[in-house]
Amino acid sequence: MTTIITPVLCNEKNMANYAYIINKENSKKAIIIDAAEEKPILNYLKKQNLTPTHIITTHHHFDHVEGNLGLKEKYNLKIIAPIDEFDKVPGADIKASDNTLLTINEIEVLPILAKGHTNGHMIYYIKELEALFTGDVLFNLCVGGLFEGTPHQMFESLNKIKSLPNNTKIFPGHEYTRSCIEQSMLKLPNFDTYLQKMYQREQQKLCPTTIDEEKQFNPYLKETITI
Ligand code: ZN
Ligand code: FE
Repeated sequence: MTTIITPVLCNEKNMANYAYIINKENSKKAIIIDAAEEKPILNYLKKQNLTPTHIITTHHHFDHVEGNLGLKEKYNLKIIAPIDEFDKVPGADIKASDNTLLTINEIEVLPILAKGHTNGHMIYYIKELEALFTGDVLFNLCVGGLFEGTPHQMFESLNKIKSLPNNTKIFPGHEYTRSCIEQSMLKLPNFDTYLQKMYQREQQKLCPTTIDEEKQFNPYLKETITI
């Protein structure tokens, strides 16, 4: 049975957030990862005739949870939030703990604590789909800002990501590829290669990338950085 992951770009606030909808092909039940905005998610769900049963939240920042309450009201769904940010996530019902497997609609989702951007930030790994939802820890070619954590914590979080299989697909919390490349320019010894990569990605709709690709091109995942 095929499981489908659909990125829904939420850009009403001009913040280019991604929400992800996950559902088995022959099922009408869906999981939402980061309900960034209600409207674009609702549009997609209605078009596909899907009923969300759960929202899984990566971290408490407003741009990742804005759709929580509205969608909960409409669908009577459960909201899963990182244990250390539980009180800050609107509508939170279920605590996600580090390395404690959740089974939702027969899909196994592993929360992995990834501090740095926020103190309780979870990334979510779905082994059967070889998919990792990285929230604001890792973007295409860049990493998230240190709002609450330390550089060391972020480094440890990135190492956790690097230890997953190389073919793991990365589904980031934002579509920041273009600005990530611009920020990275000064650090990159071969900017043309990156630019080329960006154009390829744009044709492929940018998302997802893979851990292998990030190890090659994301300056924050390289073993050494040439300045
Ligand atoms: Zn954030
Ligand atoms: Fe964000």
